[in-house]
Amino acid sequence: MTKTIRSIAGLARAGLVRPEERSKLDTVASRYAVAVTPILAAAIEHASDPIALQFLPSPDELITTPEERADPIGDSVHEKLPGLIHRYPDRVLLKPIHACAVYCRFCFRRETVGPGARALRKVELENAYDYIRAHPEIWEVILTGGDPLLMSPARLAEIVGALDSISSVRTIRIHTRVPIVDPDRVDDAMVQALRVKTPVWIAVHTNHARELTAPARASLARLADAGLPLVSQTVLLRGVNDDADVLEELFRSLVECRVKPYYMHNPDLAPGTSRFRLPIARGRSLLRSLRGRLSGLAQPTYVLDLPGGHGKVPVGPDYVGPAAEGTIEDPWGRSHAYPPPPDRD
Ligand code: SF4
Repeated sequence: MTKTIRSIAGLARAGLVRPEERSKLDTVASRYAVAVTPILAAAIEHASDPIALQFLPSPDELITTPEERADPIGDSVHEKLPGLIHRYPDRVLLKPIHACAVYCRFCFRRETVGPGARALRKVELENAYDYIRAHPEIWEVILTGGDPLLMSPARLAEIVGALDSISSVRTIRIHTRVPIVDPDRVDDAMVQALRVKTPVWIAVHTNHARELTAPARASLARLADAGLPLVSQTVLLRGVNDDADVLEELFRSLVECRVKPYYMHNPDLAPGTSRFRLPIARGRSLLRSLRGRLSGLAQPTYVLDLPGGHGKVPVGPDYVGPAAEGTIEDPWGRSHAYPPPPDRD
């Protein structure tokens, strides 16, 4: 297989969907985009393996629960201009394109990403740069989408270069799945496009160590060798990675690839994604079980993006007992006294 599969018929030809599900899956695909890159298609071993669950459409996507919403993290509430979201004072999201190399079945922007969605026009990008220039408190610009590394190196260089020329922008961050799901795209030209004087951080989205194939590891190495700092984002997904051993292997492998595990997200309330969601207590207990056995370098922060655009917060676990008790728990759940500072008033 050499081409990305973009239809249910294509998935059926590759033996990746059951014939009796085709009609329902056509309905799913008419609503939510489908794309499975060759490297992922080759990695799928069976219908319920962690790669299949993340990328193969399911009839369950036709079930929308009452709490789910089209814009789960409230991007639109903070959209100042087309493609420019200013939610926190010191940073903005800039979404130059709305297409991705793959379409994750749990995607929080699944109502807005897809092959038909329009990229920002030149004038819209110029307006975004003007906005950023006019707000010198914007210290960081986060390119997201869609997947910015799906753009050609020339287009990427134009956008990164324009941001690099704004003196108040001190950090550029790019959120991407490309190094993992379409690793050959990360070639010399793309790496060159990212080498500007402003630090460019790469936040790689990956959810299971099986995604870290040899070509994916090589693409991460090309980015790291070019001096680009790498962090990761993982979504906690039922059936995919809701297991301490699976998370441990993922986070250790990432550090070995010179990627610092940064965030583990609780899944957002995107339509048709309830099959992936877990109680927050489950995520807390999984991370708690990793605290005593996994290097601090490999520990991400567990976060939740509040519905409605109210921002992202860490959701634990925490180790501090009630204030009156003055106790702290160790990684194994044993309580220890930690005295308050002496009263100096
Ligand atoms: S790569 Fe990101 S934006 Fe694209 S479908 Fe996956 S989660 Fe959504």
